[in-house]
Amino acid sequence: MRVLVVEDEPDLRRQVKRALSESGYSVDEAPDGEEGEFLGDTEPYDAVVLDLGLPKVDGITVLNHWRAAGRDMPVLILTARDSWNEKVAGFDAGADDYLTKPFHMEELLARVRALIRRSAGHAAPTLECGPVLLDTRTGKVTNDGATVSLTAHEFKVLTYFMHHQGRVVSQTELIEHIYDQDFDRDSNTIEVFIARLRKKLLPELIKTHRGRGYSMNAPGESP
Ligand code: CA
Repeated sequence: MRVLVVEDEPDLRRQVKRALSESGYSVDEAPDGEEGEFLGDTEPYDAVVLDLGLPKVDGITVLNHWRAAGRDMPVLILTARDSWNEKVAGFDAGADDYLTKPFHMEELLARVRALIRRSAGHAAPTLECGPVLLDTRTGKVTNDGATVSLTAHEFKVLTYFMHHQGRVVSQTELIEHIYDQDFDRDSNTIEVFIARLRKKLLPELIKTHRGRGYSMNAPGESP
């Protein structure tokens, strides 16, 4: 899962990026509205954390632009304290949730998790595929009740599949959602991660669709 953080205060931006990275997300950052708008236009994010008071282009304008352009990723806005009119303007511009500054990082993480889950059509915090369970709150993965230990990249691949079960995910889509902008992407490694996940979980959990990509299905289900 890949998240964009648009925030002009350097310390806060770093803290948010670090907290999200430690929770298993790939994170891109932008220090102003112009760069943020561009990244949100051109990269596929699973969620965006958008400060409203930004240099160059303000957050409401950025959000209006994205929504008018058909960009529908979930957006969590950061608003100033006691500014109810900012929240109203944010929701009217297409925000999905808000957080008032200052906030606790745990709350930001919980809201981002919920937004990503909801936008993928999952209400419950634990995702399930056959005997494999992923608790999105703790990042714990179990197979038939036994804890499975995964590397950071294996976890990212599994998380994306768990959110998007039952449909074919192309290799390009997968790469775009598990690596941040600066990562040196090598498509061959995807096959390695998938082979390891099959070995650690269930051989038939992730199917290969030749020339199209992969799909995760509970045993006995198609595609
Ligand atoms: Ca600001």
